[in-house]
Amino acid sequence: MNLSQPDIERLRELIAAPAQRMVILSHTNPDGDAVGSSIAWAEALRREGHDVVCIVPNKYPYYLDWMTGIGDVVIHRTEPDRAAAAVAEADVIFCLDFHSLSRLDQLSEVIAANTSAKRVLIDHHLNPTEPFDIMFSHPEASSTCFLVYKLLEALWGAECVTASQAEVLYVGMMTDTGNFSFSSLTPELYQSLAVLSATGINIPQIYNNVYNSFTEGRARLFGYAINRKMKMLRKGTVAYMSLTEEEMRRFWFQQGDSEGFVNYPLSIKKMRMSAIFIEHKDFIRVSLRSRGAVDVNLFASRYFEGGGHHNAAGGKSYVSMAETIARFEAAVEEFAREGLV
Ligand code: 5GP
Ligand code: MN
Repeated sequence: MNLSQPDIERLRELIAAPAQRMVILSHTNPDGDAVGSSIAWAEALRREGHDVVCIVPNKYPYYLDWMTGIGDVVIHRTEPDRAAAAVAEADVIFCLDFHSLSRLDQLSEVIAANTSAKRVLIDHHLNPTEPFDIMFSHPEASSTCFLVYKLLEALWGAECVTASQAEVLYVGMMTDTGNFSFSSLTPELYQSLAVLSATGINIPQIYNNVYNSFTEGRARLFGYAINRKMKMLRKGTVAYMSLTEEEMRRFWFQQGDSEGFVNYPLSIKKMRMSAIFIEHKDFIRVSLRSRGAVDVNLFASRYFEGGGHHNAAGGKSYVSMAETIARFEAAVEEFAREGLV
């Protein structure tokens, strides 16, 4: 991965001005990559003497609660005034792990109001939309945590990465690659993992904290979703599941419980694309995964006002579950007619 040297130098210069107020933002429904990259980057900036506040639009899933430093992350939905004050006072705003302010929901208006702060993007999603003063947009990176690692290395050298940074960076690298099983697994990624591992972090424990910390309700909801709700299209090469609020309540749903469900149909050998529709109060969240050439970033942007990556994307639907499913089925047929799935 080639980070632009002029951009690194501009970032270095920006950080060199002493004692600035900085905000680090990440996306709605923050995941391990969003939170991990924010916390690690905040530690680096604080070490340089800056006052740093990490902000996310809503709560991260409970299986990330153990991460050191996560308690200092301000959740806009629960503390809107605190988040707004930090944004209003910020000299610099870092946007991590998202490519468009629309991914911040209500928080995006708060950001738009501060027109004087310098803005820096550090992200690995396709097609960033907003203008930024400095932009590290690397869709080829498997995670934003990997990108943050590369920035730390470029700015201060690999030996400056601490164990606390290594631990949270490892979380994002692990979760965004499906525990190192998706694409973008480069030798350079494994070199960075060697550096993180050398700080003494406990990798099996990190894995357990994230992947083996669910509730009984989540296990039963998963069984229900696969057994009762997984529907097949196109001779079993496209699968989708749907969960209504009522169904989730039945299994004591907590935010984060449906994380990973959409990946499971891809364990079927001939599967090419998988979708899940999760009902929320005002809309239905659409999550999409695919194998190989099937481009769900295109699918999400064309049919569900979303985007993401080539093999993992998402969007929203503002009609009923039945209509969402009908729209999905029609979209799959159209995609298939164009030879795209
Ligand atoms: P997930 O299915 O895990 O929520 O999201 C998969 C990928 O799609 C993530 O990289 C995420 O950033 C992207 N994504 C999810 N929802 C949306 C959305 O509503 N809009 C856009 N542009 N991207 C999304
Ligand atoms: Mn990410």
